[in-house]
Amino acid sequence: MAIIEASTLKSDLQGSCDVVVIGTGAGGGMMARELAEAGLDVVAIEMGANHRPKDFNQLEDEMFERLFQQRGAQATADLKIRIISGIGVGGSTVHNTNLCRRTPDALLKRWHKEHKVSGALPEDMKAAFEKTEAELNVQKMGPSEMNQGNALFKKGIEKLGYKGGFLSHNRRNCQRSGFCELGCAYDAKENSAKVLIPKALEFGARVYSGFRAEQILNENGAVTGVAGSIVDEETGKKRLSFKFTAKAVCLAASAVRSPALLQASKIKDQAGLTGQNFRCHPGVIAAGVFEDRVDGWRGIPQSYECTEFLDHNDDNKNIWMVPGFAHPIGTAAMAPGFGATHMAFMRKYRHMAAIIVMLDEEGSGTVRWKGKGRINIDHSLTDVDKKQLVMGLEGASKILLAAGAKEVVVPHFDPIIIGDEGQISKIAARGIPDYDLALTGVHPMGSLKMGDDPKSSVVACTGEHHSMKGLFVCDGSVFPTALGVPPQISIYSFSRHFAPNVVKFLKG
Ligand SMILES: Cc1cc2nc3c(=O)[nH]c(=O)nc-3n(C[C@H](O)[C@H](O)[C@H](O)COP(=O)(O)OP(=O)(O)OC[C@H]3O[C@@H](n4cnc5c(N)ncnc54)[C@H](O)[C@@H]3O)c2cc1C
Ligand code: SF4
Repeated sequence: MAIIEASTLKSDLQGSCDVVVIGTGAGGGMMARELAEAGLDVVAIEMGANHRPKDFNQLEDEMFERLFQQRGAQATADLKIRIISGIGVGGSTVHNTNLCRRTPDALLKRWHKEHKVSGALPEDMKAAFEKTEAELNVQKMGPSEMNQGNALFKKGIEKLGYKGGFLSHNRRNCQRSGFCELGCAYDAKENSAKVLIPKALEFGARVYSGFRAEQILNENGAVTGVAGSIVDEETGKKRLSFKFTAKAVCLAASAVRSPALLQASKIKDQAGLTGQNFRCHPGVIAAGVFEDRVDGWRGIPQSYECTEFLDHNDDNKNIWMVPGFAHPIGTAAMAPGFGATHMAFMRKYRHMAAIIVMLDEEGSGTVRWKGKGRINIDHSLTDVDKKQLVMGLEGASKILLAAGAKEVVVPHFDPIIIGDEGQISKIAARGIPDYDLALTGVHPMGSLKMGDDPKSSVVACTGEHHSMKGLFVCDGSVFPTALGVPPQISIYSFSRHFAPNVVKFLKG
């Protein structure tokens, strides 16, 4: 069966099934495939469109509008952090850069000790990680997969004796076009849209695009189904309505939209934690300007990592680094200053190699449903977080200078220009003042945290909501803390880990 697109429907839809999966990204795609393979009658609904490889035209202005929630403009209410996540079949796995990292062992152990997470120690999760990696063709990158930006990054890391290494990715027949964040026209990403949703369909799942869940229906403390709008896939405007009755619902609408949907449905948890504990790995960049052209948009964007400042056993090392490169519009949006300052920065575009300094944050935030489709996101960095970002920017500047950069630009509103190591102290002197440096979070997490104790968590370690029978959460919302590393493998694997509990709930 093919994906049923909203535009093909002429009247309201009512139906029934065993289980409705809301969202088709990392968590939802995995859950839909697992449950359909287990023989359940699955309906998977996705609010966005069903994009095909031919739709990914590599034009930033068009792709940002189509592939990202709020057309790429999603941000905290105070506009301090831009929060990027995906919309459409495959969710954020369609535009992500394919980096694959398991949940660090130290973190799984900490969750067990400090957050009462049971059944998810490294030995419990090993099989889920291995199966996920095999299914998505996760492979270690090597020297031939490195573009010039990554090669300079590696050179700087090695010169300084910092810790670093090649990353693993989920690609097959990658053409190294460098357009990963705009969707892959060559269909080389082994993601939810390409691998999991087609398998779910093969196993008999019904998958609907342009279906926006608006209410999780429930009676007497148990879910009874999902209702919502059938929308125009381009504009998001309501055309028709739908309702599916079901004994179970698996929520995978992302760490922003899953808690919002629970709030809209008036489903509360005992601890009052729904929407709290939101994390997103806020990141900043430092850009090195080199004598020779770097043309960093060419080739695989991120194949190497620096872990010198990341240690899950050390509270003073919360920074993960990878090369970062955006196409011209994305770069211009982050570039510092206005007028002549902005133009001077952009003129160096072809000679730049940037590093993303990503924070495993201590601070957290809140997601609140405000009605009529509006969602309020708050997030605050602590003083420790700000010091960590300073440390990361200093480290990134050192790497770029060691790699041969003529200068490093830290894109504050009034940019810091560093010509040699002696000037790196300018970064600490400036600090991280509000609204002075573009912060971006691309990893929403944590807003429906899991744990055994209903007094300190929303979801049990089986994935089931503590207070609502038959409601399972299987996306990035369930993590008790930030991960410090890219989350997709964790999300795919926890969803896989929870799936047998949904099967057991339904089949007994
Ligand atoms: C630019 C970028 C690059 C990234 N690169 C990497 C990377 O290299 N490696 C990595 O590990 N991670 C990366 N990520 C993050 C990763 O892709 C996400 O963390 C992951 O996909 C999140 O999975 P999820 O299931 O929680 O949500 P998503 O994958 O975002 O899926 C949620 C889905 O639910 C749908 N939805 C929401 N509300 C509703 C509703 N009411 N009704 C119906 N459907 C709804 C959404 O449209 C969406 O399709 C990146 C993210 C970005 C933005
Ligand atoms: S670099 Fe590879 S995965 Fe990325 S868009 Fe190009 S072909 Fe696709």
